[in-house]
Amino acid sequence: MANERILIVEDEKKIADLLKDYLSREGFELSCLDRGDEVVETVKKDAPALMLLDLMLPGTDGISVCREVRKFSTIPIIMVTAKVDEFDRLLGLELGADDYICKPFSPREVVARVKAVLRRMLPQDAPKRLIVGGIVLDETTRQVSIDGEPVNLTPNEFGLLSVLMTFPERVFSRNELLDKVQGYRFDGYDRTIDSHIKNLRKKIARCLPGREVIQTIYGVGYKLTGS
Ligand code: CA
Repeated sequence: MANERILIVEDEKKIADLLKDYLSREGFELSCLDRGDEVVETVKKDAPALMLLDLMLPGTDGISVCREVRKFSTIPIIMVTAKVDEFDRLLGLELGADDYICKPFSPREVVARVKAVLRRMLPQDAPKRLIVGGIVLDETTRQVSIDGEPVNLTPNEFGLLSVLMTFPERVFSRNELLDKVQGYRFDGYDRTIDSHIKNLRKKIARCLPGREVIQTIYGVGYKLTGS
């Protein structure tokens, strides 16, 4: 878990420094922002493993930031709020945050929550690196390479490929894939799976021409084949 990058978005310098202090002692790499309107760009550029996001921020508030980031990223988000009554409202908004922390907090508590959320993202029994027929998928860095070539996948494509590669040769129905990929915040209905599969196939075919790695099982769904 160490060396993962955490993005702290906090405009109160004292709190930001305290968080930095405790998290760096745990071996995390840190980036800090004190404004909301720089978050989207930073998440895209740095791909942090987790974000601690304050609610009240100059630029763009934490709620809007969370919504914007969720449009393109599955990064775990822990929202930090100063008000207990805000806390209940936040829970009701279904922002897609992974956890909520109320100020004042103990830094130890924050460290524990960060670790817990990161652990949830990576089930202990799941392999972190999947290799099937020339495709290498790394759950930790969220990188995929095919025949040695790095391939850029959207979060949905990554989620789908990860499920298929965890169980090669197993046939998945569209509904099943939807369910399994929920953990990656799949938004849409079963036919949107088809368009994600189509795009995924295109990206794979560029590196492995002539090989049908993801096969359609007529009337059922899809499977990934390694040979
Ligand atoms: Ca604030």
